[in-house]
Amino acid sequence: MDCLFCKIIAGEIPSKKVYEDAHCYAFYDINPQAETHFLVVPKTHLASANEITAENAAEIAHIFTVIPKICKDLGLESYRIINNCGAGAGQTVLHLHFHVLSGSNLGERLV
Ligand code: 5GP
Ligand code: ZN
Repeated sequence: MDCLFCKIIAGEIPSKKVYEDAHCYAFYDINPQAETHFLVVPKTHLASANEITAENAAEIAHIFTVIPKICKDLGLESYRIINNCGAGAGQTVLHLHFHVLSGSNLGERLV
């Protein structure tokens, strides 16, 4: 499958790994929007949040158990989790991913 993040998970395209286990992979965003900005992706290819179902929801729940562990390891007390679903919301890579942003430049505004 011609998917950028599947290639990153497979190691075919280099990335700066933050965390990995059997179900998910986390790596620093190539174009950071905050002092810390990494992405967490399920190893299973799902194009977007629109493809989350009762059958695969455990993989997504797993990601939300991993994010606090990563942030604790990185010493991040405050952070923002973002998912862009669909082109109209700014999704550019069609493999489900959660942005995790942290740093002093995060304000209260979401948009
Ligand atoms: P989206 O706009 O789809 O929500 O987020 C895609 C993110 O992937 C962007 O923040 C972009 O900087 C990041 N990205 C795109 N290509 C690469 C890449 O090759 N390596 C890494 N590490 N991040 C990438
Ligand atoms: Zn993929």
